[in-house]
Amino acid sequence: MDKRVRVRFAPSPTGPLNIGGLRTALYDYLFARKNGGDFILRIEDTDKNREVPGTEQYIMDALKWVGIEPDEYPGVGGEKEEKYGPYRQSDRKPLYKKYAEQLVKQGHAYYAFDSSEDIDAMRKSEEEKGNHSAKYNHVTRGQMKNSLTLSPEEVEEKILAGANVVIRLKMPSDETITFTDIVREEVSFQTGLLDDKVMLKADGMPTYHLANIVDDHLMEISHVIRGEEWLSSTAHHIFMYRCFGWEPPHFAHLSLILKPVGKGKLSKRDSATFGFPVFPLDWNDPETGDLQFEGFKEYGFLPDALINFLAFLGWNPGTEQEIFTLDQLIESFNLEKVVKSGARFDIEKAKWYNQQYIMASSDDKLASMIQEQFSDVSPENLKLFCGMMKERVENLNEFKKNGYFFFDKPQSFDEKTIRKKYKLENDVHFLSMADKLEAIDDFTTENIQNIIKGYIAEKELSFGAILPILRVALTGTMKGPDIFGTMELLGKPETLVRLKDALVTFASKTSES
Ligand code: GLU
Repeated sequence: MDKRVRVRFAPSPTGPLNIGGLRTALYDYLFARKNGGDFILRIEDTDKNREVPGTEQYIMDALKWVGIEPDEYPGVGGEKEEKYGPYRQSDRKPLYKKYAEQLVKQGHAYYAFDSSEDIDAMRKSEEEKGNHSAKYNHVTRGQMKNSLTLSPEEVEEKILAGANVVIRLKMPSDETITFTDIVREEVSFQTGLLDDKVMLKADGMPTYHLANIVDDHLMEISHVIRGEEWLSSTAHHIFMYRCFGWEPPHFAHLSLILKPVGKGKLSKRDSATFGFPVFPLDWNDPETGDLQFEGFKEYGFLPDALINFLAFLGWNPGTEQEIFTLDQLIESFNLEKVVKSGARFDIEKAKWYNQQYIMASSDDKLASMIQEQFSDVSPENLKLFCGMMKERVENLNEFKKNGYFFFDKPQSFDEKTIRKKYKLENDVHFLSMADKLEAIDDFTTENIQNIIKGYIAEKELSFGAILPILRVALTGTMKGPDIFGTMELLGKPETLVRLKDALVTFASKTSES
């Protein structure tokens, strides 16, 4: 590669970063790291009307949580920021005007004074002429109030009088702009079909288009990786690079993330529809403080699992391997293998990844991740618990949900098993086993197992007659880890109490039926 790889993630702070945005950031990060380059976070806040407070912090928090923190970001300080910053576009406001004016001088842009009513009226009259998709462009600009139709004196007068004025890009009427996109290969646009985009707004703020390319140029961005909704704007951008005489960056446009059903773009409303997060972290309404969207983190995802899942949402290394650490992703990632078609947001796959990562995590790590939910459980017991439960959960919240009986008495009992397995003589067996268990000094899984299995053998009973009902007595459910280990974790006193309590419960249940 000819110049240093510098990749930017450039979100607009108009709401929480969704999963599609996070995927873009991830691809930016992977590409930058793979090529020994820089990963930059630039906040594109030129549209102050659409800004939602708290978004920028949310973006930083989300990137940090998944472990893809940028090298350069607003407020990073140091030499980098001095050279390339500020990284928030509103802080760069004074910088853009001269570029817009430069294009006016060169004849590639013009001042326009039209009100929104003027533009509506133009659309209406074009409509009447049969032009159903009228734009402010080479077809219509001649009818409007701009520096192409007004005399230089009128223009100056209006500007001096403080009229509302914007600067528009003068797109050529009949040219083909062709560029090679790394994902989509050769892409062409007819300039005659594009509009004369506003570059500088009446309040002196640049629009996305101007700020985006000025900043990509000044920040020496080598590769622009972004969502495909920006593909058609790229024609405008290439044209602007040409007008300025700057070398454009390489472009890679990522395909959409589709709804779980495979059709239509994934949207924030899908979170409610499918009961699954589409944001990395919880998002609270900035006005009311109420939870508005649930995050993957709070849903119980491991960040590494989310990253692995997201990396594969639109990319694959072309091998069978599906589990990749972040370092392995960096090693294998390339933009050429990013797919052109939309990527279906497969919730089940996301859960599968999470499960794989939970199973592969050490008991220690899991214990530290769920500690907050179990403040009165000792670290030792929590580790044992994690070891026993980790193959039985899909997310970190299920530890509590599926394993609550370790810490609380069962709230219900599996009725089916009771009906099928409970016999009056069980009471004698339970009481005898309880006596034997009581006598154990060292209440370990192994000792417990020897006692119970020994008792079953001695009485010539079957495992099937005793173990299921024993399990239900202690945990209420048939779903759970090794019963002897469960007893160790419950501890002797609790095990004995539950065994005895269960006899009463079972007797009342069987007499009811
Ligand atoms: N600010 C744009 C966005 O919100 C960035 C597009 C780009 O990366 O050029 O998505």
